[in-house]
Amino acid sequence: MPQFSQSIPKRLLKMFLASIFFAASELIRAVRVAFAHQLPYEPLIIFYHQVFPSERKRFARQMDHLLRWAHPVSTAQLDQTDKHSRPVAVTVDDGWLSFVSNALPETKRRLIPITTFIIADRMGSSFGDANDRIVSEQELESIRDDLVTIGSHTASHPCLTTLKEDDIRLELRSSRDQLMQALKADVRLFCFPFGAYEDEHIALCREAGYDRVFISTPVPKGRRFEGYVSGRIRVDPTDWPLEFHLKLMGAYYWISMLAALRQRLRVRWKTTQTPLTIASGAGVAQPGD
Ligand SMILES: [Zn+2]
Repeated sequence: MPQFSQSIPKRLLKMFLASIFFAASELIRAVRVAFAHQLPYEPLIIFYHQVFPSERKRFARQMDHLLRWAHPVSTAQLDQTDKHSRPVAVTVDDGWLSFVSNALPETKRRLIPITTFIIADRMGSSFGDANDRIVSEQELESIRDDLVTIGSHTASHPCLTTLKEDDIRLELRSSRDQLMQALKADVRLFCFPFGAYEDEHIALCREAGYDRVFISTPVPKGRRFEGYVSGRIRVDPTDWPLEFHLKLMGAYYWISMLAALRQRLRVRWKTTQTPLTIASGAGVAQPGD
């Protein structure tokens, strides 16, 4: 589902920090390249939601910017790294008709491949937005071609971390079955609603037949599922040009790095508090609670 817009001061702060991160990482890269290190660019994945008619021109400018600064790839090409250009894959969550009507003609015109993740049970319904709706089965079938890959975004778009295991299995399997029936083709990609997942869910995704899954932050938790769980960065047609550029350059990776650092500090702080907790008789805190 679309998320609420962030406040302007928060966006400015993130952009400022991303600029510093970007400058530092480019400097390190230049030094390493100077010493003849092979340094291929890692593929970067961006994701959109809705694109309304009033946003079409801004979206088109973003796609032109992408072509100027990066190399668009499909989600099937993520394992092919490129030493000379920045590979970027465009993905879209939920399956909004507004994206199909206003953005898809722009990506197709520029031969930019996209992958769209569909909420299977909501096809043809408004899904809480009176000005938009999720595409119908017929519309989905009609847009699929070599430039459009279809993936599942569950059946009903729940936060999977709140469900029991059997219900998660049902969401994963029924959505895939429904989409395969509508498309008369295989569906091998999955995207977590709200980017919410636990490590145990990965085995369930494999069991349900998915080859790769996508989340809503740039870097997955740990490297345990590298190659199977792909991080992404959210973009919007309303992004400022510099903001979009920095996202495209991978400068917003710092969000995940800071989150990981905060988690490590939290665990360390809890560990140092343990003796006091025991003394108070309130129980022992476990790392990662
Ligand atoms: Zn969603």
